[in-house]
Amino acid sequence: MERESINFDVLIVGGGPAGLSCAIRLIQVAKKNNREIEVALIEKGAEIGTHALSGAVLNPIALKLLIGDYKEKGCPIEADVREDEFYFLAKDKAYKSPKTPKYMHNSGFHIISSSKLCKWLASIAESMGVNIFSGFAGAEVLFKEDGKKIAGVRTGDKGLDKDGGKKGSFEPGIDLLAKVTVFAEGAKGSLVESIAEKLDLFDKNMPQVFEIGIKEVIELGESNYFKTSKGNDIHTLGYPLGLNTVGGGFIYEMKNNRAAIGLIIGLCYKDCELDIYDEFIKFKKHPFIANIIKGGKVIAQGARTVCVGGYYAMPKLAVDGGVFVGGCAGFQNSPGLKGIHLSMYSGMLAADAIIEALEKMDWTSDSLNLYKELFEKSWAKAEIYEGRNFAQAVSKKGILKFLHLGSQYFTKGKGLKDPMSLKPDYKTLKPKSKSSIKKEKHKYDDTLYIDKMTGVFLSKTIHREDQPCHLIIHDIKLCVTTCYKTYNCPCVRFCPGGVYELKTDEAGKEPELSVNFSNCLHCKTCEIKDPYQNIKWTCPEGGDGPGYTIL
Ligand code: SF4
Repeated sequence: MERESINFDVLIVGGGPAGLSCAIRLIQVAKKNNREIEVALIEKGAEIGTHALSGAVLNPIALKLLIGDYKEKGCPIEADVREDEFYFLAKDKAYKSPKTPKYMHNSGFHIISSSKLCKWLASIAESMGVNIFSGFAGAEVLFKEDGKKIAGVRTGDKGLDKDGGKKGSFEPGIDLLAKVTVFAEGAKGSLVESIAEKLDLFDKNMPQVFEIGIKEVIELGESNYFKTSKGNDIHTLGYPLGLNTVGGGFIYEMKNNRAAIGLIIGLCYKDCELDIYDEFIKFKKHPFIANIIKGGKVIAQGARTVCVGGYYAMPKLAVDGGVFVGGCAGFQNSPGLKGIHLSMYSGMLAADAIIEALEKMDWTSDSLNLYKELFEKSWAKAEIYEGRNFAQAVSKKGILKFLHLGSQYFTKGKGLKDPMSLKPDYKTLKPKSKSSIKKEKHKYDDTLYIDKMTGVFLSKTIHREDQPCHLIIHDIKLCVTTCYKTYNCPCVRFCPGGVYELKTDEAGKEPELSVNFSNCLHCKTCEIKDPYQNIKWTCPEGGDGPGYTIL
């Protein structure tokens, strides 16, 4: 097939904080060096920010370095953190901790919407001359003839019917070629996964592990909790997950009488009957939380996974012709539940290394490894390194968990064993016969407590129905036989979009699994958690997916 190809100096795949910070820094440094540079950035969302979702408390350390006068330049800040509050939730009670763990001291940081931040960063990047192409998904990594050096990315074809045939509106993907390609895809990036299959990016003994967060923005009444509370950055532990399932909740104040609320769950959970959405509703119905959000109305909802494996789970940061930044490269402060500042800084360090490589006309891994060297000497490394055994410790049970966490707290992350080993999330489920979860029937009110499908509606997720399903199930028979019998098809409960639906109508008949891909929130949980690794998430047509604006 004839395909158009376009050449750039640098191609960035992903318009999140890491990719956009990289783009801005590239232009800044090139300008300082009196150098012309052609930078392109592609984003699979219909617009920049529509696939961006995060808590989000922003430590402005990287933003200050990138755009010193960010406030004057109109950075969209929802609120400044006045004070942190940390609670332990028992079933009907909340106990305020006299001390907030040191990693969660957010006073002076900013509460933001990741979606709005990305939009604002993109406006700055565009004004500096970065070519931004939204609605273009990276479908395939292009390699040089040797099959090892990255040459660029092919964008996805548009206008295929559900069997992969060309419709009248068919537009072939474009080959975007670059001296250096920056992968900034976010957690579990599909292109990074495909490169890893060829170039061995990850340490097999330290697999990346993840948490999923479901988040809502709630419109509160005029007089609400945050009008009188000291703290506006609330974190909780305990109910509904208990202490043996990793995770916790958060509520942050936003401007215009709004609040961001979310529940984060470690995908290392063991009980196959755990329903992620149900847990979120239980969290919202806890008396302490219900009191904060009472009288409110959900106006936006979404979900996304975040990598939490820490320093030992990070991949190689540079290969010939390519670098990895942000979530897809594991930049996250796991104990502090923050990653945007680290993602931004990774993009900036990568930009510095790329400019050096372009000056030297050498974009081999040896040259681009300057990025890794800069990272190793930076505050970002120190921050990530301190959480190097955190995901391992929180996944332990009972007293052992607290022994590990306590010792890590006082030894800058070293703890009782360093390094502690990690187990991939897909290997942690126990069979359904070992489940201890009792299903609760929730009452929804379509306003403050909404069901999954209303949540998908409020995520503004859209996929053209007549296109190939982007969720590839390698063996559907395995789902309805082995997986159904052993784990009762956990995809039905871990997918926050209600994509997987199990039909068990007729007695004696094998169940059927349907895949409603048009509800997909692009959170990637299914690819991570499926116990048989039977699901592969691929990019649907560019521009499809969630339509986040304030998450
Ligand atoms: Fe997330 Fe997979 Fe469900 Fe899509 S199908 S919303 S990626 S779990």
